[in-house]
Amino acid sequence: MIGGTYQNRVNTMTTPSEEQSCPVCGVTVINDVVQFANGSKGTRARLYARVCQYAKKPDCINQDQTLIGEVLQEDGFMEAPQINLGS
Ligand SMILES: [Zn+2]
Repeated sequence: MIGGTYQNRVNTMTTPSEEQSCPVCGVTVINDVVQFANGSKGTRARLYARVCQYAKKPDCINQDQTLIGEVLQEDGFMEAPQINLGS
């Protein structure tokens, strides 16, 4: 009898985390951490350097320069995530 009655309910409904998803870039931003579609994480600057600056769609949530901050050169030159920009 191991773990029979043990139930760990993972419910983040009460956690005040700010989660946004970009319909254009297909990424999720949680507390300013960008979750790329391929599982890697990065900053808003990295997201912008790799995706948003090319997407240039009004629906993109990552176009606020004050939130993006400084885009470093390395942000754009690391391995690109698999992101479908179709549609
Ligand atoms: Zn975007």
